[in-house]
Amino acid sequence: MVYCDLHTHTRFSFDGADHSTPDALCRRALEVGLTDLAITDHCDVNGEVEGLYDIYDADAAYTAVMEAKEKYRGRLNLLYGIELGNAHQYPDYARAALARHPYEFVIGSLHNLRDVPDFYYINFEKMREPLVHSLFSRALDETMEMCAFDVDGRSPFTAVGHITYMHRYVAVGKRTMDFKRHYDKLAALYELIIKRDIALELNVSTLAKGLGITMPTLELLKLYRDCGGRLVTTGSDAHCPEDIGRAIRKGHALLLAAGFDEVLTVRDGERVLQKIN
Ligand SMILES: [Zn+2]
Ligand SMILES: [Zn+2]
Repeated sequence: MVYCDLHTHTRFSFDGADHSTPDALCRRALEVGLTDLAITDHCDVNGEVEGLYDIYDADAAYTAVMEAKEKYRGRLNLLYGIELGNAHQYPDYARAALARHPYEFVIGSLHNLRDVPDFYYINFEKMREPLVHSLFSRALDETMEMCAFDVDGRSPFTAVGHITYMHRYVAVGKRTMDFKRHYDKLAALYELIIKRDIALELNVSTLAKGLGITMPTLELLKLYRDCGGRLVTTGSDAHCPEDIGRAIRKGHALLLAAGFDEVLTVRDGERVLQKIN
């Protein structure tokens, strides 16, 4: 039975733990019984162009991940990936970043709206309800733009990461979120990713952190399925070896509840669906 963690970070991410080496992640992956692991370090193009984050050392990450692939060959399906943040904001920079190395698994993520800091820095605790919904609506608009980003006419994304990223910080602010009023936009976004063959990531980092939600929630997984979506991936978004695989099993239970009995991974360069039960 497949057990995939396809969203993880090493020390090559600006916010990865120092001891989070590719080798340490692989060791932990074997300890917890993962079949597939994708290392998807951050390359936030807006953060790099605007000087907000350190530049992703793609060459050093490539060397370290390739060494680990060789070392763990036959024991773990290790995928060399990247989490490309906000690609639509600087598309030429994003295309150049993707051209540097042969990435096998590309997550497209939106971490902030144009000229607005990462949602991580926004305090939702006392924010007025209309503003929360206006920001969420704008996040959906920009996620649409991001999912339309192309390289030579095709989407480079294997999956869209934490599609409701803002919800995480709404939950940090001890708030709930009513998605009903956003169903039309969500359905349009799902239709776009289905058309472009981009999988929907179920990001369970928020469960591991005790926030009680997933990105997206069960309700929105069901909506994706109702829209015809069939491609889902699972990711812990671990930033240290200890968090590898954490809450993925709980994620499987949610996927099953939403009607999905298989997840997408990449084996020998091919996208494949694998049963989770
Ligand atoms: Zn992210
Ligand atoms: Zn991440």
